[in-house]
Amino acid sequence: MIEIGQLLEELDWIPRPKLLALRRLGIETVDDLLTHYPRRHEDRHQFPHFPHEESDVPICLCGEVVKTSVRRFGGWKKIFEITLEESSANALSAPLICRWFNLHYVQKMIATGQRLVVFGKPRLRGKRICMDHPEFEVIEDDAEMSIHFRRITPIYPATEGLSQRVLRSMIYRLLNELSDKPLETLLPSELANGERRAALRGIHFPESWEARDAASEHLVLSEFFAMQMVIAARRSKASIRSGESHCGNGILLEKFLGALSFELTRAQSKVISEVRRDLAASHPMNRLLQGDVGSGKTVVAIAAMLLAIEAGYQAAFMAPTQILAEQHYAVLRRWLEPLGICIALRTGARQEDNAPLPLFGQTNGATQITVGTHALLYENVSFSNLGLVVIDEQHKFGVAQRALLTDREPAPDVLVMTATPIPRTLTMTVYGDLDVSIIDEMPRNRGKIVTAVRDSSKLPDVLMFLREQLEARRQLYVIYPLIDESEKLNVKAAAAEFELWRERLQPFRCELLHGRIPAQEKQDIMERFRRGEANALISTTVIEVGVDVPNATVMLVENAERFGLSQLHQLRGRIGRGEHKSYCILLTSDESPETVAKLAVLEKTNNGFDVAEADWDLRGPGDLLGTAQSGLPALKIGDLRKDAQLMRRAREAAMSIFADDPRLEQPENQRFRHLIVEKQGRNFANVS
Ligand code: ADP
Ligand code: MG
Repeated sequence: MIEIGQLLEELDWIPRPKLLALRRLGIETVDDLLTHYPRRHEDRHQFPHFPHEESDVPICLCGEVVKTSVRRFGGWKKIFEITLEESSANALSAPLICRWFNLHYVQKMIATGQRLVVFGKPRLRGKRICMDHPEFEVIEDDAEMSIHFRRITPIYPATEGLSQRVLRSMIYRLLNELSDKPLETLLPSELANGERRAALRGIHFPESWEARDAASEHLVLSEFFAMQMVIAARRSKASIRSGESHCGNGILLEKFLGALSFELTRAQSKVISEVRRDLAASHPMNRLLQGDVGSGKTVVAIAAMLLAIEAGYQAAFMAPTQILAEQHYAVLRRWLEPLGICIALRTGARQEDNAPLPLFGQTNGATQITVGTHALLYENVSFSNLGLVVIDEQHKFGVAQRALLTDREPAPDVLVMTATPIPRTLTMTVYGDLDVSIIDEMPRNRGKIVTAVRDSSKLPDVLMFLREQLEARRQLYVIYPLIDESEKLNVKAAAAEFELWRERLQPFRCELLHGRIPAQEKQDIMERFRRGEANALISTTVIEVGVDVPNATVMLVENAERFGLSQLHQLRGRIGRGEHKSYCILLTSDESPETVAKLAVLEKTNNGFDVAEADWDLRGPGDLLGTAQSGLPALKIGDLRKDAQLMRRAREAAMSIFADDPRLEQPENQRFRHLIVEKQGRNFANVS
């Protein structure tokens, strides 16, 4: 009898090379192998007749190899071609040609006389129906026939050193020899539909398609539930931490708002009142503020900080880059020093303290707001009385980094902000333990942004347009993609690029900005651009986040195909910040359908959520969140997009368990504590 937790190497029937191949996939225990789920299934009860027409839907066919041949093309390249005939061929059936280009190993695996199952898209080539590079499996008439055929057959993710047959046979045997002891279920009863054992059998060797779907639902729910339990546990732990109310009576805030040159949008007011409620409550705030670039998140952050300061606390405002921290620092000093607030700056490159006499709070001459970069985390910045932490562009920080600033007693309130809108299901996953506020409205005074994709060959026309804009006294960003700025080579490329642009845009003044320029110089360059002393900024993506120059209304992105959609959207957010109409030109010489489809999204919409959805469609969620955001869980079976509904159910169930039992102390909840929060915790260590 096999136990679910047993190591595979303890079973004496798995040969060493296979064990090693499995280990490379991270599969070491029986449980690991049983949760190595099929990628898809094939109905091998009865195969359809060979098609006479092509189709875009891949199909699964079975036949006998009647002929094989190898042809050469272009010198050393080879095509291996086989002719497959339907087993019950009749006068009307047409043979199927399967072809593989330059795959020598396929040739070694297939011989005339064999029976073969193939899976692929049939295409018309001349008069023949062909499948190019189909997936295939050779039928071997042996005792194991019934495992691989005449059933709904699992197809696993392709792996080196492990054929479909081998994986299938191993899993089949595990399922048959698994001990009868009931498997610990991962699901609460209201979600569980049947037993885990049945679900495992059903996902690998289903009796019917319905059975497969039911099994899949059970396992996806288990996985999502485990993840949501980890999130809910963290959320619960945060909310039972001892916190304090950090909310003044709002007089300072009134003064600030009264002095602003604009009215808040409805969305901003709504979010400020949400934040205010959290600040007033004695348990710690953990709130995410999502708002498209330019939607005015900084004002909300300031409002929150003023409320905390008025109650006698300090606030920290952390931004991911030097430029952004400096910009926030400048804005805060301009707006808040007239109110008597002391603001300090802490970045790796620069530290500055301004301590005029404070009018508010009990801090007497001490800093009330500290603005900074990561330096806030690592340098010894001491806060005597930290009440609020605001983190801008939080996706640039890791979960652990955030914790450095926020894991202190008593717990400060935390407001994290992001301009990367993400689809709701993803929010529930990646930011599952945060309350979410959304600014879904732009300030009214914004000019429109027009986005156009242009082929690189049109550069002369584009240049003419740029010059017109510069002549109309608008300013320009030219963005070029340097992937890794640490390389000397890239710096050289940047400099060359810059010379080129300087010539092209004569006599307008250009400045160059990239990551290797020293912080102080970067700051001066930005400042000259902001003041309009430079007309064009030739830059890498260091200007990506948060930079605010309302008169810069034109952006040209070179090699636009190299950027992700969300990143382009972020970049585009640098323009359209003033009342003038803005133009974003995406230059590319890549005509592939993928690039065309991708860039067309930006021409169609300016809405960050729409862009995020499209980006998700095109590339999957990983890229959406950027590299620093490692928050995506490693899911084995669930699909965040397809299974959104199941995620909601799993989340509700997890939340309600913790609502009744915040520390998981009830006897009936012990299994969750052990099985999920502890054991699964490591899988989901990164979700925030
Ligand atoms: P983001 O959400 O991208 O961080 P910012 O907070 O930098 O946006 O705001 C962008 C610009 O819009 C700033 O110049 C800011 O002063 C201005 N702004 C913010 N709120 C409003 C508003 N309600 N009406 C007009 N302008 C606003
Ligand atoms: Mg911002």
